[in-house]
Amino acid sequence: MPQLIAGNWKMHKTRAEAVALAASLRAAPIPPGARLLVCPPFTALAAVAEALAGSAIAVGGQDCHMAPQGPHTGDISAPMLKEAGAGFVILGHSERRQNHGETSEQVREKVLAAVAAGLTPIVCVGETADQRANGAETDTVGWQISGSLPAGFAGVVAYEPVWAIGTGRTPTPEEVAAMHGFIRAELTRQFAAAGAGVAILYGGSVNAGNAAGLLGLPEVGGALVGGASLTAEAFLAIAAAAR
Ligand code: PEP
Repeated sequence: MPQLIAGNWKMHKTRAEAVALAASLRAAPIPPGARLLVCPPFTALAAVAEALAGSAIAVGGQDCHMAPQGPHTGDISAPMLKEAGAGFVILGHSERRQNHGETSEQVREKVLAAVAAGLTPIVCVGETADQRANGAETDTVGWQISGSLPAGFAGVVAYEPVWAIGTGRTPTPEEVAAMHGFIRAELTRQFAAAGAGVAILYGGSVNAGNAAGLLGLPEVGGALVGGASLTAEAFLAIAAAAR
């Protein structure tokens, strides 16, 4: 199975800029080891999905509400994402857990909503710098997995240490391998056969220079990329390291 290289564009790109980036990605050959996914902001999602229609590049949202519709000002539902052309949705990103107070329980409800709408959820987990300094990284991630993933979970998990996001710092290869091994063991223990098939992405300051090392580690099923997904060159250079 090729590795999933997912770009989280966060709150970047106007609709015109997003379509231009999608067109550049579409024009390039997809590296053989990679499956590509881009997650534009909501305002650009439908236009990007249209620009990529018929290509092998998938499109995803960056969050969704747990309800299919209702009085939720500023929110977007999973069926709305699906209708706009999304196949995936990132859920429980640390910027949502920290800046919007999202709990694992809410993330679990969002996962259920995403699956009901036919979307593949990418659920983010990861410890803060303080939690790692206190030796609490595996406990933290273990609790996030049991709290955020519903029974029978068959989506994607992204391990994103909070302290590595947008900082240029990454864990050592040993630390990444240890955490991915732990997550695989937890998924298998908690979700049996479904858990054994879940891809585990690494995210946090992935770039062209470190991608091959990170993507070559055991149980790393791909990458969730923030800053380096904002240009076609940088994103495709990471994808070229996939296997
Ligand atoms: C992210 O926020 O999902 C992320 C991985 O960001 P960056 O690659 O910029 O660290």
